Amino acid sequence: KKADTKDKYAVLERYFGYRSFRRGQEDVVDSLLSGRDALAIMPTGAGKSLCYQVSALLLDGVALVVSPLISLMKDQVNALTAQGVKAAYLNSSLNDAQFDKALRNMANGMYKIVYVAPERLKSSRFIRAATSIRISLIAVDEAHCVSQWGQDFRPSYLNIAEFIAELPQHPTIGAFTATATTEVKQDIVRILGLRDPLEVTTGFDRPNLFFSVIRTSQKSKQLLYLLFSRMNNSGIIYCSTRKTVEKVCALLYDKGFSATRYHAGLSDEERRKNQDDFVYDRKRIMVATNAFGMGIDKSDVRFVIHYNMPKNLESYYQEAGRAGRDGEDSDCILLFGHQDIQTAWYFIDHMEPNPELSDEQNEAFRKKEIERLGHMIAYCKTRECLRAHMLRYFGDSADDRCDKCSNCRSKMKTFDATIESQKILSC
Ligand code: ADP
Ligand code: MG
Repeated sequence: KKADTKDKYAVLERYFGYRSFRRGQEDVVDSLLSGRDALAIMPTGAGKSLCYQVSALLLDGVALVVSPLISLMKDQVNALTAQGVKAAYLNSSLNDAQFDKALRNMANGMYKIVYVAPERLKSSRFIRAATSIRISLIAVDEAHCVSQWGQDFRPSYLNIAEFIAELPQHPTIGAFTATATTEVKQDIVRILGLRDPLEVTTGFDRPNLFFSVIRTSQKSKQLLYLLFSRMNNSGIIYCSTRKTVEKVCALLYDKGFSATRYHAGLSDEERRKNQDDFVYDRKRIMVATNAFGMGIDKSDVRFVIHYNMPKNLESYYQEAGRAGRDGEDSDCILLFGHQDIQTAWYFIDHMEPNPELSDEQNEAFRKKEIERLGHMIAYCKTRECLRAHMLRYFGDSADDRCDKCSNCRSKMKTFDATIESQKILSC
């Protein structure tokens, strides 16, 4: 059933309080409403969730949203419920009785949107319930998790296609990701079985982000300097190891900053608490490994500082992109020292082979990682426009100068106090 434009805008305003779609959103919604699969490639913060939520509200039946993120499911379901949308989630945070109850409700048509963890798609109880109802749409969030080429390969994402094959009718599928490399894109289309999908790419530029690379061998001094000039803002500091997170966090405590931390070595409970402290502004600074951030919707993050160089530009852009989701000017700063290159090589040399892949596939993956590391190092060393460098890497076209990144700015010879002091501090 094709919903008309008036419905679309009415839903947008009534349930989300927005008057206009952002770039790309409407094309995705139109495609899904017309029954055509869609592959939406949009950077972090672009508003991918809204695409499937608005579509779900306009289609007959129940929309299933596959997501790897338990905390995101809970947040989105709470937000939707608060707006009067009937929504629920099915994941490992539910006990058996709760799971059964939610399934029964789903089968009885009580929900419009159901978030489901990929592991649950294998459950025969879930399959039985799903085959008994009309499914309007399957939205696959973080769809790059299906690809072994990506950062976040999740074998459970391979359940999605098997699940879809069990359904009496092939539903419309929307796949959403911020990863744009060709291999990942092809994997998504092939493995999820998208049929002639409308591909919507909004382009990767985030004009409100200011990129800087600071070459320094005195990172903690440099970091403190950056933080002292950003006293009232929320920000994330990414470090490459748990040990560094602990070290940096201790330094910040010592200097009296309002900071907390997040890494895989902490208990679930502590991670959840620390994350909430940051999201709800009880703590201003989050010091974390890359375990932190996927799916976290804190819109007023004013800076993302990388204390260490990430292993590739895909990771960098995704993590840095958590700044400025509200569209306000924000800083993405990478502290680069020569030690970073050695550390990155250490990680590659000590990479565990993925047991799900063959030896050749593992070797191909390793080669790919080395290649990606080369591009990351090139970004840290280039004197050219950082934005152009990154956008071209992702296949976008870009002007030679953005006049907003540290390289363009130093070429402009602005005697900006920040850049001057950076020169003093860096060696
Ligand atoms: P993504 O999943 O693409 O990283 P999200 O779906 O988390 O992005 O959305 C990021 C933010 O953008 C959210 O706070 C969301 O409410 C907001 N947003 C989405 N669409 C719109 C819109 N059309 N107008 C204004 N804000 C929007
Ligand atoms: Mg998202």
